[in-house]
Amino acid sequence: MDEYQKLAQLILDADNLVAFTGAGISAESGIPTFRDPGGLWDRFDPDEIGTAGGIVATALKKPGLIREFLLQMVEIFEKAKPNPGHYGLGALEEMGFLKALITQNIDHLHQEAGNNGVIEVHGSLFRARCLSCGRRQQMNKAEFLARAKSLLGSHNGFEVGRLTELLPRCPVCKGISRPDVVMFGEAVLMLPEANSAAEQADVMIVLGTSGVVYPAAALPYQAFERDAKIIEINPTGNYYDSICELYIDAPAGEAMPRVVDALKEML
Ligand code: NAD
Repeated sequence: MDEYQKLAQLILDADNLVAFTGAGISAESGIPTFRDPGGLWDRFDPDEIGTAGGIVATALKKPGLIREFLLQMVEIFEKAKPNPGHYGLGALEEMGFLKALITQNIDHLHQEAGNNGVIEVHGSLFRARCLSCGRRQQMNKAEFLARAKSLLGSHNGFEVGRLTELLPRCPVCKGISRPDVVMFGEAVLMLPEANSAAEQADVMIVLGTSGVVYPAAALPYQAFERDAKIIEINPTGNYYDSICELYIDAPAGEAMPRVVDALKEML
């Protein structure tokens, strides 16, 4: 039995299969991770753009840097489509195996690959949250990216004060919104749902995370403590080696189709 057949067997035997993903699963969609070479933190300083306060201070001191960062993000997200890693998880849900998907990603690609009820512990870039009353509203991704592109406009025409126009006003209190993403130092979202999914898992597949951003990084340990089998898929290291039942040293986009194929052959 090769490692893909072993994973397929674990999936077949599972009552409650859960997946936990990080930035690595979207790397093959062209979205840079934070910590890999060439990742976001190689190009930008997390103190300047990784916190809400940092962004406000940078916008005032270095508006050109904020414009450059946002333009790069818009261009990356415009091109990003789900890759075979995302589609593999979509297929596992469609086949009735995957019961919950917890992601640290904010890119909406799991939903685009067909997964429902995704637990987004770090929020979503395509959702706005009112700064006054907290009400959330989903945004149309294409419209939001087009609006951002036109607002960021040319270098000379860029006015940092107009960034508040990027997001829609709250439909209830008309307050200003911010992206509904979790920045460094902020509380994670949907933690009870994530904890409950992890604690109910009997098999958890961990894909594309370096496991350093807590509290999300603790979810595989929580599952393991309740006797779940942990499988890790990551091409650069076995970050959960102390609790791992099976480690697959491959990119998610290569591994997931092979797992789905192995499953189909065993059904
Ligand atoms: P990370 O950058 O710390 O680690 C990414 C991991 O993915 C690394 O271990 C790397 O080896 C692995 N990886 C790289 N290519 C891969 C591939 N093709 N298949 C599988 N694994 C691959 O990311 P993290 O652990 O998710 O933590 C960073 C935080 O940054 C997250 O909380 C997330 O919110 C945020 N983030 C999100 C996105 C996104 O939404 N796509 C992108 C960057 C960062």
